[in-house]
Amino acid sequence: MIANPPSWPNGAKCAVAITFDMDADSFLHLHRPSDSFSRVAAISTLRYGPEIAIERIVESYKQFGIKQTFFVPAWCIEQYPDAVSRMMDGGHEVAHHGYIHEHPNEQTKDEEEYWLCRSIEVIERATGKKPRGSRSPLYNFSTHSTDLLIKYGFKYDASLMGDDVPYILNTTHGELVELPSHWGMDDWPPYVHMSDIDYTMPIKSPQEAIAVFKAEFDAMWEFGGLWVPVWHPFVSGRLARWLEATKLIEYIMCKGNVWFATMEEIAKHIRRQHLDNPGSIRVHQMPYYNSPIQITREN
Ligand SMILES: [Zn+2]
Repeated sequence: MIANPPSWPNGAKCAVAITFDMDADSFLHLHRPSDSFSRVAAISTLRYGPEIAIERIVESYKQFGIKQTFFVPAWCIEQYPDAVSRMMDGGHEVAHHGYIHEHPNEQTKDEEEYWLCRSIEVIERATGKKPRGSRSPLYNFSTHSTDLLIKYGFKYDASLMGDDVPYILNTTHGELVELPSHWGMDDWPPYVHMSDIDYTMPIKSPQEAIAVFKAEFDAMWEFGGLWVPVWHPFVSGRLARWLEATKLIEYIMCKGNVWFATMEEIAKHIRRQHLDNPGSIRVHQMPYYNSPIQITREN
């Protein structure tokens, strides 16, 4: 059912990268700049991510013997260095996720470039190396993002949703690997109820939520795709939800023939395949459009 499945290392049926976006309270300050400081309960909910959930998640990864990827806004790296140290100590990848969860597609190219550069500096200071991957906050990738990420040495993006398998974003300035996901693999719709930012979904049980993610994994395993859940420590790191998530990881491991890897490793593998065997990986010319779509009457 997938027209162009890539080949995965050691004959694996599919690739798995569980990604966590550690937003903490960044987006609350962006969304409610004048009074976010006084929304104490919301801040406590969001701090649960770096202060409680990260330790739990990293410990589980250690028990499973896997290395995964965390996307972290640079402001959160400055605010919650201990959480980032835990990721680093576990050997996990720390990737770019904006400065304070700002939306690139609402910025000018200059603004986007400024905050990208500032974030790269913070990540390099904290981790000792420049980020290789990026996910635009709230998937708000801009028409300039491909070129800017290429310009600053990024190897992959993880904001788009255009395929079941990795593909290449091509511009006149170069190429970037896209590692796609989609909203069906994001934990906000089934779990988040936060009136402070006007996002109030009916909360699903962990069993119901995980059933959706599991169906996505099973299909990817069947047809050779890439399974990239987009989870958040303050959401999926809550006790009952993480317990159910660990059962899903056990299930995946028991099923076997799965390549668990960081996003950086997967991007490197895909890039090599694209270069060694041109045409094997689909290429998207970016951006899709440069200006508003004009449709006029014909009579
Ligand atoms: Zn985020």
